[in-house]
Amino acid sequence: MSKVIGIDLGTTNSCVSVMDGNEVIVITNREGSRTTPSIVAFTNTGERLIGQVARRQAAKNPKATIYAVKRLIGRSMDDPEVQRMKDLVPYDIVPMGEGERQYPGVQIGSDVYSPQEISAMIIAHLKEIAEDYLGEKVRQAVITVPANFNDSQRQATRDAGRIAGLDVLRVINEPTAASLAYGFGEDKDETIVVYDLGGGTFDISVLRLGDGLYEVLSTLGDPFLGGEDFDNVIVQNLVNEFYAEHKIDLSTDEAALYRIKDAAEQAKQELSLTTETMINLPFITLSGTEPLHIERTLTRQELEAWTLHLVERSLPYCENALKDAGITADDVTKIVLVGGMTRMPLVRRTVAEYFGIAVDPDVNPDEVVSVGASIQAGVLNGEVEEVFLMDVTPLSLGVETAGGVFLPLIPRNTAIPCEASEIFTTSVDYQEMVPVHVLQGESPLASENHSLARFELWGLPPLLRGMPQIEVSFKIDASGIVSVSAIEKATKHEANIKIEASGGFSEDEIQKMIDKAEAQREEDEHLHDLIEGVNAAKSSLYLTERSMKELGAYLKDEQKDNWKSHIDDARALLDKDPRDLDLEDLKLAKENLDAIQASVAEAAYKAMMGE
Ligand code: AMP
Repeated sequence: MSKVIGIDLGTTNSCVSVMDGNEVIVITNREGSRTTPSIVAFTNTGERLIGQVARRQAAKNPKATIYAVKRLIGRSMDDPEVQRMKDLVPYDIVPMGEGERQYPGVQIGSDVYSPQEISAMIIAHLKEIAEDYLGEKVRQAVITVPANFNDSQRQATRDAGRIAGLDVLRVINEPTAASLAYGFGEDKDETIVVYDLGGGTFDISVLRLGDGLYEVLSTLGDPFLGGEDFDNVIVQNLVNEFYAEHKIDLSTDEAALYRIKDAAEQAKQELSLTTETMINLPFITLSGTEPLHIERTLTRQELEAWTLHLVERSLPYCENALKDAGITADDVTKIVLVGGMTRMPLVRRTVAEYFGIAVDPDVNPDEVVSVGASIQAGVLNGEVEEVFLMDVTPLSLGVETAGGVFLPLIPRNTAIPCEASEIFTTSVDYQEMVPVHVLQGESPLASENHSLARFELWGLPPLLRGMPQIEVSFKIDASGIVSVSAIEKATKHEANIKIEASGGFSEDEIQKMIDKAEAQREEDEHLHDLIEGVNAAKSSLYLTERSMKELGAYLKDEQKDNWKSHIDDARALLDKDPRDLDLEDLKLAKENLDAIQASVAEAAYKAMMGE
């Protein structure tokens, strides 16, 4: 049976794992790390870098280093978060898409990539890491998403998996995955709170675990609360202090900001281990010709004072999640912390105090989500038995009714998969079409919620108003993905629905992205083969030249001249850009060089023997 991998596709870091027997293995990447930065960079030589290597060159290539793309995926161009990102990131976000709605794309030179394609590059990289480890091709995956991702974001994430060449068997919620990992293999009865504070988002879920059944009781989140906010507070303080001292505003200096942000994040992380750290940024800017530096000690106490308000912002969500689950903090028996930010002592302390119990120190907050995804993968391909997952939909699903009012049909926290239906009718005699607007959200106003699709029911029988009875069914599958169907009850005719793919792009557009990514992968593989061919031929060239030099004294001049001219030809070939070369030519060049090397040795041997 081929393996199904579990992928935690994070805003800042991603993690891939796989089940091996009864155990989950978190797979180490090529740099020896168990998590990989969710960063893609495009270099000016046309190379694509992913992960740690992309991160390392970010400061000198800010416009073509793409990070936090998870904040864009599945959103439309007019989404306030996209506008916020445009102000925040150094890379260019431009509108793209063929339909009525415009979606954010990332501009690199003359190319525009959708967030799905960028995410697909990260997923494809994780897939390769898994394939290297397993020694076989991987075709299927379970991918996690924040619990509060709406239908568009889930579909877009699934599309990213498809573009990466994976069949995404299930999209599951990160906190649910975390709880799966926590309780796996043990027979426990617990009420678990999963508190997940990552790089960009905060999620809280309450689950009940008993007899292998994981039941999600409630889930809530703030998509605008995460580690970046903590970094920004530090950056803001450093920029303000610098301004107070030097009257120079560093907030408009992109290169300086990059360095400050990096140092801020590093200091924040160090202060989880120590109580004091140094922020040292020499030559941050110039005042006239005088170089200026940032040099300052930052204490844990200061950091905690600066960021307490951020940690406290998570508490009302905790309260509401408990309320939604119909329990109180006293009922909670276990807290599972997820996300890099939960390594911060202030976060651990605040959460422990709020729930009145200690946090589990054994759970690795960076890996637990991916581990859970692998367990779910194991359940789906039959490797794991006796684990059942009952998840819920995080947002109410409904339609717009007269006056722009939102009518919820499936309330949030309903167990999935689930379905609901609603009867629609006409408001004018002989009306041929009824428009339906499907939304997700909690506001009573349709305009305040997330629009999933607008579609039109056509082909209605010509009847007086109010007569046609169109039953529209809404289904949410186990991945939280919505589908809609409609039937006219009198004629039993299926209504003709024109529906836009909610993930952002039409099936055609996604197919184009899949083809493009496949072609790119082939191109990358070809380039990789060419570079390997060049390297192999270069090592033959080196050995042949060395033999010629060492044994030159035993060789005849005309032999030497003949071989030298071949060697010169080979060197000229190997100095070219690998992209302009041909694999066959490289193979031939290497064979020629190897043959010359053998001939040199043979001729020298004969000369030594006096033949
Ligand atoms: P995640 O999205 O779960 O990978 O979380 C990433 C966030 O966690 C980033 O903002 C990191 O700076 C932060 N983080 C990682 N390690 C630590 C640490 N030891 N202390 C505080 N924050 C951390």
